[in-house]
Amino acid sequence: MEIINRLESEVRGYVRSFPKVFTWAKGNRMKAEDGSEYLDFFSGAGALNYGHNDETMKAALIEYIQSDGVTHGLDMATAEKIRFLETFENVIMKPRGMEYKIQFPGPTGTNAVEAALKIARKVKKRPGVLFFTNGYHGMTLGALSVTGNASKRGGAGVAMPGTTPLPYCGYFGEDRDTADDLKALLENSSSGLEKPAAVIVETVQGEGGINVASFEWLKKIEQLCHEHDMLFIVDDIQAGVGRTGPFFSFEPAGIKPDIITVSKSLSGYGLPLAITMIRPDLDIWSPGEHNGTFRGFNHAFATAIAALETYWSDDQLEKETLRKSEIIKQRLNAMVDAQPSFEAEIRGRGFFIGMDCAQAELADEIAGECFENGLILETAGADDNVMKVMPPLISSDEDIAEGLDIIEKALATVLERHGLLNSAA
Ligand code: PMP
Repeated sequence: MEIINRLESEVRGYVRSFPKVFTWAKGNRMKAEDGSEYLDFFSGAGALNYGHNDETMKAALIEYIQSDGVTHGLDMATAEKIRFLETFENVIMKPRGMEYKIQFPGPTGTNAVEAALKIARKVKKRPGVLFFTNGYHGMTLGALSVTGNASKRGGAGVAMPGTTPLPYCGYFGEDRDTADDLKALLENSSSGLEKPAAVIVETVQGEGGINVASFEWLKKIEQLCHEHDMLFIVDDIQAGVGRTGPFFSFEPAGIKPDIITVSKSLSGYGLPLAITMIRPDLDIWSPGEHNGTFRGFNHAFATAIAALETYWSDDQLEKETLRKSEIIKQRLNAMVDAQPSFEAEIRGRGFFIGMDCAQAELADEIAGECFENGLILETAGADDNVMKVMPPLISSDEDIAEGLDIIEKALATVLERHGLLNSAA
């Protein structure tokens, strides 16, 4: 750890929350050099929805490497890319009646967002993009320009024109439908809002603190996009690939985005892979207009194919995620209800659940206490006020109970420290 503290840039982040040297990871378990063991309720911020080092994916990867399959090929045709596209089409798109062209931007989420914003502006020939309060879309300049967090935006060091923030679903409380705010701005020729090219939205905001958009709200935003000739972009980088239950988080809302970004758990194995899904008639890129050295990483295709075939050929994983989600929410709600001096809201969909602490600093303290007791989870939200409960989707009922027991104990320890504990609970 000495060399990390001495040599790695000050920008390092998670190592500060989880100050251990990790040496082993399997499923939802991790081990550190000093012998300590952890249950993972963090899932690589959504990149490890199937847990660490899945056996089937590992076997596919080893076989691919041993056969000297192409590792790097820019965006040349490889047999593995063809197999990935066929699998994605057959397992994901066809059963959902989806028609999209698949762009391989660079391999991270922010690359997929950059591509989405660029193609939207190119199609509509307008610079404006609307985004939402507490939204998070990545750290490169385009993606950062549609991200809410002030300290992250401050890192840009330049102005980021062309984007406008709008209140997300529930931003002003339950009684105000913020889709109506957008409608009013779009319909008033003196609102000052120039006609944008697109709207970008997360169905559940991850980094923003597990804020859940209602399906009605999402439908209204989509409708407004249609009425006002704007493209509707859903960033499903964190909420997608089963995190909320279905493969795409927007499926139960019955909406059809024009552009979809997917990354994080797409490779299934934690290898970098991102795609930008583009409605076919919008795919007006000229060859190489948006390129990159690491598009279409073949090792990631090999594991992605195994992941899609293993987990998405039927609806078992989705059903199990939704069933266990209720168990998690019920227990978290019971923990909060048992502590009258602790104000917190439990919200989320699937395995994308947050505990929003009214006393913001408690969230980090509880997460820290969890880590001390062998559970890895992170905080999110404007003031790091939300504890994110994101177990890998493959977690058993017993694993979930074990993690929730640790959360309950950590909560009690922290509340006691602050003189807030209801010990009768
Ligand atoms: N969009 C969303 C919704 C995200 O949660 C993230 C990452 N947290 C990104 C984009 C950026 O992805 P990456 O970190 O891979 O660039």
